[in-house]
Amino acid sequence: MKIFKFGGASVKDAESVKNVAKVLQSQGFEECLLVVSAMGKTTNALEKVVAYYFDEGDYNQEIRIIKQKHIEIAQNLFEAQHTVFDEISLFFDDIESFLRRNKSPNYNFVYDQVVSCGEMISSKILSEYLRSVGYDNDWLDARDYIKTDNTYREGVVNWEETEKNIAALDKKKSFVTQGFIGSDENNFTVTLGREGSDYSAAIFAYGLDAKAMTIWKDVPGVMTGDPRKFDNVSLLSHISYEEAIEMAYYGASVIHPKTLQPLKQKHIPFYVKSFLEPENAGTKVGVSDENQQIESYILKENQVLMRIATRDFSFIAEEHLSVIFKALAKHQIKISLMQNSAISLALCLEDKYGRIDTLKEELESEFNIELSKNVALFTVRNADVRELNKFYEGKNVLLEQISQKTIQIVIS
Ligand code: ASP
Ligand code: MG
Repeated sequence: MKIFKFGGASVKDAESVKNVAKVLQSQGFEECLLVVSAMGKTTNALEKVVAYYFDEGDYNQEIRIIKQKHIEIAQNLFEAQHTVFDEISLFFDDIESFLRRNKSPNYNFVYDQVVSCGEMISSKILSEYLRSVGYDNDWLDARDYIKTDNTYREGVVNWEETEKNIAALDKKKSFVTQGFIGSDENNFTVTLGREGSDYSAAIFAYGLDAKAMTIWKDVPGVMTGDPRKFDNVSLLSHISYEEAIEMAYYGASVIHPKTLQPLKQKHIPFYVKSFLEPENAGTKVGVSDENQQIESYILKENQVLMRIATRDFSFIAEEHLSVIFKALAKHQIKISLMQNSAISLALCLEDKYGRIDTLKEELESEFNIELSKNVALFTVRNADVRELNKFYEGKNVLLEQISQKTIQIVIS
């Protein structure tokens, strides 16, 4: 089988949904499982519903707006008497009645039950639309296949069960299902983390021993840099799983980091292609001998640089490091880069939950701490070190680290 994943931007309106059919026309839809995200910015809108629900805001009004958007899209795709309209309404009724009856104070649990509806609805619309234009398919509820623990908003996949469920699918058919969601032991919905639909596609690819997986995007493929941030970027035609995971680690947002592991394990080739130009080759991610060693750039913004020094002029030793790492883990602050010298440690950090000041206070009982907020980590892969200077021009460099294939600088 082959796996296709269509993200939110590829189904953001009726025209885009029609374009999915065009992509299938050029690529074929035989023995294919199609994974789809919520339409456009629906996930953000549903997040707002949950926030309002807990803040006693008018969440019903938000639900009505989201519903209206989906109805409008459907009106441009189906005749007025099509059953899809009732099905769309049912999903929204379910959200409303769930919120009315819910007694759980667990934000993450409520979030998953509500926000997952974006994918339920988009997959329903897409499945029905494809059927109406002649692409026969079965609609699958991904929650019957992807089983997770109950870490709401960041579900951990139970691979054994998931693999068994997916392997039972009829490989001669074609399917449309949701990205981003699975379910726990009690069949409550669990999401896999924001932007998790790529991961869902990889899970299905793994379970089905797929011959290939393609992610359809609004860019030509994986580029040597984000075209919104860098000039003169070009398309990478081949990269290895390893290079792709490194790029994701350094902050390239085209590939969701968890996606690569299941694909690499079974050597399933993975393509990133443009849904606007489906005939173009795009990028192939595969085994390492195909890696193209081209200079590429990744900018990770909104970082914090923390310099930590001992108070008593002693070396930064194992005991110090263990105190520091424990504190970082406790506050869920991620290290993007680290460098140490005899008496100091420099950390470039990603502070997703705004806890950096608390961390600073805690560590200050033992160390001298200096913070630079709002810095960026600039990474160059496969760089030519002889041309290092060109990367420094016009930048205030706070830290640099050079290894065999990678130059990293922290800039403000
Ligand atoms: N709809 C989810 C999100 O926007 C999952 C995804 O798009 O991959 O985060
Ligand atoms: Mg999305």
